[in-house]
Amino acid sequence: MTQMFHVFLVGAGPGDPELLTVRAYNLLHEAEVILYDSLVDPRVLRLARKGARMIDVGKRCGRHAASQKMICEILVAEARTGAMVVRLKGGDPMIFGRATEEMAALDEAGIAYEVVPGITAASAAAASLGISLTQRGVARSLHFLTGHGADDGLPGHDWVALTRSGGTIAVYMGGQTIAGLAAHLIESGMRPDMPAIAVENASLPNQRNLFGSIAMLPRLLEAAKPGGPVLICIGEALRGDVRGDEVFLNVERVNTA
Ligand code: SAH
Repeated sequence: MTQMFHVFLVGAGPGDPELLTVRAYNLLHEAEVILYDSLVDPRVLRLARKGARMIDVGKRCGRHAASQKMICEILVAEARTGAMVVRLKGGDPMIFGRATEEMAALDEAGIAYEVVPGITAASAAAASLGISLTQRGVARSLHFLTGHGADDGLPGHDWVALTRSGGTIAVYMGGQTIAGLAAHLIESGMRPDMPAIAVENASLPNQRNLFGSIAMLPRLLEAAKPGGPVLICIGEALRGDVRGDEVFLNVERVNTA
């Protein structure tokens, strides 16, 4: 008989603890062991119950604290002790969250788990900008892209199809590869003045927004040297008539909210 274990793959949202789901909040209070990534905000971690074992398996852009294989091994080993384990991931676990590998490892070990969704970075960025990513009549689709390929370069997206779709593009992990990404889109027919916004640390007190066009965003990002995670949004919907010219300043604006 398969023994019942208690593992939860939980989305921690974009950073602001207020943006946790009630389920994530409750599970954080109950968990005996918490495995977390470096993108999870310290204020979220402080919601863990007293005495919970906190295991940092964080990885950020090349600085690998633990390999994915190791994370899976730790997860399975902790679950086998019978402890209640929360695997906490930034944003939503099912969006660029390597959830598949961890679910497969748990399946293979015969360990039952549950996935708890979280607010993904693109949702947090859109909310703080006050711009809908799917503005009616302007953007009929939303594309989540990774800007980070397996070989550390840009993945081979279908740039022509993306450009033709006319939808909004949300690029995760694209801070380092934006120059190539912009070049591909422009070569594929995207107008160089297409609105493009980079949001660093969405939902956090140190959020920074860089407003520009697809042609100029690489230079803006190079100058801004972001230290936090960056989400890039590209598309007509971001022209942002919601806030009029305030949105389209083409300068770095610091969000002090
Ligand atoms: N599962 C996460 C994404 C993990 S990939 C989610 O659903 O949000 C990591 C990338 O997510 C970062 O490189 C960045 O592009 C984006 N990201 C995560 N948190 C962010 C934040 N607070 N602000 C801006 N971008 C963020």
